[in-house]
Amino acid sequence: MTNQPRPDMDHYMMGIAIAVRSRANCLGSKVGALIAVDRRIVSTGYNGTPSGMRNCDQGGCDRCADPRRFPPGTAYDVCICVHAEQNALLAAARFGIPVAGATIYTTLRPCFGCFKELLQAQVEAVRYLHEWAPRDPSLRNEYERLVSAFVSGVQQVTVEDPDRAWAMASARVGTGQAPPGEVRTS
Ligand SMILES: [Zn+2]
Ligand SMILES: [Zn+2]
Repeated sequence: MTNQPRPDMDHYMMGIAIAVRSRANCLGSKVGALIAVDRRIVSTGYNGTPSGMRNCDQGGCDRCADPRRFPPGTAYDVCICVHAEQNALLAAARFGIPVAGATIYTTLRPCFGCFKELLQAQVEAVRYLHEWAPRDPSLRNEYERLVSAFVSGVQQVTVEDPDRAWAMASARVGTGQAPPGEVRTS
């Protein structure tokens, strides 16, 4: 048996969030998230259409299917896909698991909506893998106000991501699937 370095908690959790992401069915960026309380995983989520509805990657979401009408990173309010962070929060709600004081690990920096929901659920710390920012620069101040409200901060965790090209819409630039400049489509 070879000696393998033992990952620290952030790298351990992010590796699991990457595994959770493998179930994502959104046409945009694929995202996985997990919520940990006291260093124990209490909930997970990945992005896609609500349970029981046709998957986004099978044409289930009009907004994601029409990037010309809804440029990537916009129109989340008319998108029926549930974000990974929302799904992790909602699974905890459904099963009656408290998340106050929790840390969320997510493979993409949360969007505006997810940040405010995490904050209001009293999640204290956010650890993310890939960068994201609002497409409209005029929204960035307000976005950063949410970021700075997390008691234990919002920090990037650097982990090797072997499936980055599959998961990240921005990595598909040039393939005709995503316009240049966008960083997240779902
Ligand atoms: Zn979608
Ligand atoms: Zn989101």
